Amino acid sequence: MAISRNAKLFSKALKLIPGGVNSPVRAFKAVGGKPIFIEKAKGQFILDADGKKYIDYCLSWGPMLLGHARKEVLDSIRRVMTRGTSYGIPTALETRLAELIVRAIPTVEKVRLVSSGTEAVMTAIRLARGCTGRDKIVKFIGCYHGHVDHLLVRAGSGTMTLGIPASPGVPRDFTKHTIPLPYNNSVKLKAAFEKYDSQIAAVIVEPIAGNMGVVPPCPEFLKALRTLCTKNKTVLIFDEVITGFRLKYGCTQDIFGVKADLTCLGKIIGGGLPIGACGGKADLMDNLAPNGPVYQAGTLSGNPLCVAAGIATLELLKSENPYKRIDLATSRLCENLSNALKQSGIEHSINRVGSMFTLFFNPGPVTDYASTAKSDTKKYAKYFNHMLSAGIYLPPSQFEACFLSTAHKQQDFQKTIKAVQNFKG
Ligand SMILES: *Cc1c(COP(=O)(O)O)cnc(C)c1O
Repeated sequence: MAISRNAKLFSKALKLIPGGVNSPVRAFKAVGGKPIFIEKAKGQFILDADGKKYIDYCLSWGPMLLGHARKEVLDSIRRVMTRGTSYGIPTALETRLAELIVRAIPTVEKVRLVSSGTEAVMTAIRLARGCTGRDKIVKFIGCYHGHVDHLLVRAGSGTMTLGIPASPGVPRDFTKHTIPLPYNNSVKLKAAFEKYDSQIAAVIVEPIAGNMGVVPPCPEFLKALRTLCTKNKTVLIFDEVITGFRLKYGCTQDIFGVKADLTCLGKIIGGGLPIGACGGKADLMDNLAPNGPVYQAGTLSGNPLCVAAGIATLELLKSENPYKRIDLATSRLCENLSNALKQSGIEHSINRVGSMFTLFFNPGPVTDYASTAKSDTKKYAKYFNHMLSAGIYLPPSQFEACFLSTAHKQQDFQKTIKAVQNFKG
């Protein structure tokens, strides 16, 4: 058999890029085999270097809620692009995106744009520490907040997949102020606040965890977070880099009725271009330079192309309001997935919120890191490769979320279910 172009491209990449990839989970280490290389994408499909077409349930790890290469988004980028690609000087476009975000999220009065989710989180943590004059931060085991040094402590998918407990290169002095606690556990949270009372600058949480696979919050967990943070004058940070604009036009804060002090965004608000954002009440945000003493900057922050893609994406989401429809489609898909696996006698559980879900090879319930970690990752690897050969692209790790886009159609779901029916474990 002729050597595939995918394989050739990967062996060349291996010589020039560490692991052949620019982000670790892409390397397929958790599922075996070699990564595919993408030539182009449209709607719900990606096309690899061997000309094979896949239904994409990874969607660039979440940003492509409108599907790939959506015409209006491309047109918006193209229009802006012809006028130059970066100025390092303010543009009206940045204010327009800020306006869309502020109008959509009641707890956000001002927002600073950055170039990645990682940067958004870095900014939020620095701001919280700067404003409170405290050092300690609470994070939850299995939650991922980008590759920020002091948050690379028991940090979800990438680090779980590769078995890196924390990372070499992160000095202990950087993480000694990070308190990792189990997700969905209000008792441990209370105990931590009792122990460290007025030393905790911030609690950062994925209000719906997506980076240990999808794990929804218990309502009392989020309420306890808010109560304890308010009582201790601790800044509550919701990392909504995945969930922002994925489940409704705005943030999950409105769904649960729990308000964050700072909100981190990314992924969807850039429509597939690099972006991040950190927002909150004006008096808190005004502590950032140049108004306040907390320093934060970025050469390409608010880049016109990224902002143009973001504006087009949010405007489409606002006018089309696809959320109910896509929630229903995902709910049906998950039900049919589950039925197909049951018929083959395969133990599993599915966690789903709106258009994001994870199929765990684990009878469940999956409520925190300890329960996700019981999943049969070997079975996931087999399942992933089975689906891949059937032309269905899933995230190459058990501990990631699957996503739907507004472009996915009934026949895609039928094809997906058929492939799952043929999976015998
Ligand atoms: C993806 C992600 C990040 C990091 O965003 P990057 O753009 O990859 O830096 C942070 N937090 C959460 C919850 C994420 O899913």
